[in-house]
Amino acid sequence: MYLKSIEVQGFKSFANKIKFEFHNGITGIVGPNGSGKSNVADAVRWVLGEQSAKQLRGSNMQDVIFSGTEVRKPQSYAYVAITLDNSDRQLNVDYEEVTVSRRVYRSGESEYLLNGAACRLRDINELFYDTGIGKEGYSIIGQGQIDKILSGKPEDRRELFDEAAGIVKFKRRKVMTLKK
Ligand code: ATP
Ligand code: MG
Repeated sequence: MYLKSIEVQGFKSFANKIKFEFHNGITGIVGPNGSGKSNVADAVRWVLGEQSAKQLRGSNMQDVIFSGTEVRKPQSYAYVAITLDNSDRQLNVDYEEVTVSRRVYRSGESEYLLNGAACRLRDINELFYDTGIGKEGYSIIGQGQIDKILSGKPEDRRELFDEAAGIVKFKRRKVMTLKK
C-alpha cells in the first residue's frame, strides 16, 4: 500500500485545486519557508479525521479553509482527498484504490467520503486501525512527536505498540460494546 495522490482545494494556502501525485518510493517536498510544505502534511492528517485545530496549527476548525489574500477572495469550503494504492489489499476493502475525502464549509457543515460514498468518521477510523495510517498512527511523525515517544508516559507509548501489533480495532470495539 502506498500514497498515490493528495488533492487539495481551498485547504489552507491552496486556494486552487491541486493534485500531488506520488510513486511507490520516497518523495521529498521542498520549498521556501511559508510556501506550504507543512500544509501538505496537515491535509493528510485532516482528511484522516483530525479533530484538533491545534494539531493543524490553527485555533479553530474553520482555519483550514483558505482565508484569502490581497488578490484572492476567501474560499467557502476546504476539500482534501487522498488516494491510496490498495493492490496488496492491506486495507480490508475489495478495491484496488481507496480514496478518502473530507469537505468542510464555513457554516461548520462537513462530510467524509470513502470511494465517493458518504460515510462516517468512524468508518474511516475502522478502515485504518492497525495499519499505522490513521490519525493516531505512526505514519505521520510530526515535529516534536519523537520527543513525545521518547519521554512520553508509558500509556501513550503503549498506544503505538498496540497499533503496530494490530490490536487497536479489538480494543476500540470492546469499548464500544461495553458502552452499549
Ligand atoms: P516552513 O519551511 O517555515 O516550515 P512551510 O513550507 O511548512 O514553511 P506552511 O506552514 O505549510 O509552510 O505554510 C504556511 C503558510 O500557509 C503561511 O503563509 C500561512 O499564511 C498559510 N496559510 C495557513 N492557513 C491558511 C489559510 N486558512 N488561508 C490562507 N493561507 C493559509
Ligand atoms: Mg513547515
